[in-house]
Amino acid sequence: ELAQQMRNLRSEFPLLTRTVHGKSLVYFDNSATVQKPDAVIDSMNRYYREQNANIHRGVHYLSGEATDAYEKAREQVRQFINARSSKEIIFVRGTTEAINLVANTFGRQLKAGDEVIVSMMEHHANIVPWQMLRDQLGIVLKVAPVDEDGELDMAAFNALIGERTKLISVTHISNALGTINPVKQIVQLAHLHEIPVLLDGAQAVPHLAVDVQDLDCDFYAFSGHKMYGPTGVGILYGKEALLEQMPPWQGGGDMIDLVTFEKTTYADLPHKFEAGTPAIAEGIALGVAAEWLTNVGLDKVAAWEDVLLKYATQQMLEIPGMRIIGNAQHKAGVISFVMDGVHAQDLGVLVDQLGVAIRTGHHCAMPVLHHFGVNATARASFALYNTKDEVDSFIAAMHRARDMLL
Ligand code: PMP
Repeated sequence: ELAQQMRNLRSEFPLLTRTVHGKSLVYFDNSATVQKPDAVIDSMNRYYREQNANIHRGVHYLSGEATDAYEKAREQVRQFINARSSKEIIFVRGTTEAINLVANTFGRQLKAGDEVIVSMMEHHANIVPWQMLRDQLGIVLKVAPVDEDGELDMAAFNALIGERTKLISVTHISNALGTINPVKQIVQLAHLHEIPVLLDGAQAVPHLAVDVQDLDCDFYAFSGHKMYGPTGVGILYGKEALLEQMPPWQGGGDMIDLVTFEKTTYADLPHKFEAGTPAIAEGIALGVAAEWLTNVGLDKVAAWEDVLLKYATQQMLEIPGMRIIGNAQHKAGVISFVMDGVHAQDLGVLVDQLGVAIRTGHHCAMPVLHHFGVNATARASFALYNTKDEVDSFIAAMHRARDMLL
């Protein structure tokens, strides 16, 4: 019945009907970005056809309407993650910009010798901004290790926390391994020491229900395009009290209260962090995506993707020479793997010829792949619209590719 419900949703995704190389498309690169439902595509189209105007500035009718639509989206996103206030919802370009914003505002206030803890399984977006801060301010970056299954070693994590730890920044779900981290436990641990926690939710929001009040995290970052919304827009959630204390980052229009050449005062939250004209159509469509996903029901999505994960994993393990990287007990619909004697890249090219889109490479998470002794993996990742039939096609394509390459 769950399978049928999800299959019915497929018809809302126009792209999924297309072919590639003359074959039906099997799209298993969902961790990179997911396809969009009609509701999202239509909302962007409608915005440009009927409402386009700059927001927050005009007295004229259209500007008011566009502003209302954009602010409605903020409220939809607030509900989506159950934030306390829409002041805590900052529109940004994506997860990458959200983390850079925190590094350049909250992070600016750190002193040489202060410590930030990340984990070994972070995406580069949650490594490089802290390294840049290290080079600029002399902060220390500490890295929590992962075990052979791709799970965080919580005892080692705990041992890294010290007097000078000022922030813990970890991913909710690893894009390279699929590991779902015990983030609530991490937040509780951090708060015992009054350390704020940033969660990289890029891979989590499309796969499981996120409640920032329940998690009690201090920051939560995610991208629109991975949760059925458009590219070019994402969200930084931050607790109001923390955001209030943080200096602004980018300066410009919209983020000010009064400007003279002598002194400028800044706008209130959330606008303090939103300089310049934003991605208005994308923001509105992100609100639509959030509501659409909530209506589908994230518990159902998580359950269905878990069915696909188990179904695919079982068949993959029957392929000779197959090694799946990341066997966490709590795992999202991501399978990262290597095959003995076969380059991930070659595998990716061959299955593409058969219509199957997977990702190959380092998945912007080089350190954790090195930890597992590989430079690249192939990765199949699932979304709510994928089917068991598609898994069968993928497995068949893998067998064919293996026969051709070995
Ligand atoms: N963090 C994780 C865990 C991701 O998977 C990604 C995207 N692959 C990012 C951060 C960066 O997201 P974006 O490129 O949308 O800013």
